[in-house]
Amino acid sequence: MASYSTLQFMLLVGLVSGICCIFLAEKRGGSSFGWFILGFISGPIGIIIALTAGKKCKSCFSVVPSGAKKCRYCNEQL
Ligand SMILES: [Zn+2]
Repeated sequence: MASYSTLQFMLLVGLVSGICCIFLAEKRGGSSFGWFILGFISGPIGIIIALTAGKKCKSCFSVVPSGAKKCRYCNEQL
């Protein structure tokens, strides 16, 4: 029984982390499904990855996708 509830707990943490990653990744670009899988598999570590992914614009401090050459908010070159 103990192992069953541990599995349930891990599944719940995975789902919550996956959903958190989708919301975090929305601002950073990339596919939501990919981010969900990342969060589901790596749990809280996935949330940290989603938080640190992308880069900040020097001009307006918005987070833009890591592959972007131009800030989508102020058109500053990155
Ligand atoms: Zn900017």
